[in-house]
Amino acid sequence: MVTGSIDPRRPTPYIASMAKREILILPDPKLRVKSEPVTAVDASVRALIDDMLETMYDAPGIGLAAIQIGVPRCVVTMDLAKKDEPKAPQVFINPEVVWSSDEKSTYEEGCLSIPEYYEEVERPAAVKVKYMDADGKSHEIEADGLLATCLQHEIDHTNGVLFIDYISKLKRDRVMKKFKKAQKRGETTRDAYKEDTPEHRIG
Ligand SMILES: [Zn+2]
Repeated sequence: MVTGSIDPRRPTPYIASMAKREILILPDPKLRVKSEPVTAVDASVRALIDDMLETMYDAPGIGLAAIQIGVPRCVVTMDLAKKDEPKAPQVFINPEVVWSSDEKSTYEEGCLSIPEYYEEVERPAAVKVKYMDADGKSHEIEADGLLATCLQHEIDHTNGVLFIDYISKLKRDRVMKKFKKAQKRGETTRDAYKEDTPEHRIG
């Protein structure tokens, strides 16, 4: 055996710094915190992005805002690639809606912080979003379809807004009650909707 004679491979600092983080779940009050803009893309922001991507892929989810892992900074990660397509991670720093269409569209939305709950939400069908990429370069994109919905959902997170804020008060109160109850039971709240009636499950 040559095992002892070979220098052990050390993980690069990049790999070593990546870590899956815990996703905050309703009714965690931090989800209502307004995030601070990023002033410079430094090592701490890059490490945050790495953690967010790892956490998002592990969940799995198609979008994540930093506040969902308890960090109140305006950073959003996203990957809208379909299952059979290669990964296409996207990073939006300080994303901001600068224009939205009068035309609306409706999507059935879900949220990693409100697991297993889905509801139709109406939003502007198209938006223009200003943001900075992971290299600190400024961009403006026009988005429609799923990207437009996702961007608005994640930008809302940076402002402490959740998609349940757009549904009726009656429905929202029911969701809140359910997640508070699950929290009291000491459950992961991931299970809050497990025993619910089928009408609240997706497809
Ligand atoms: Zn969400």
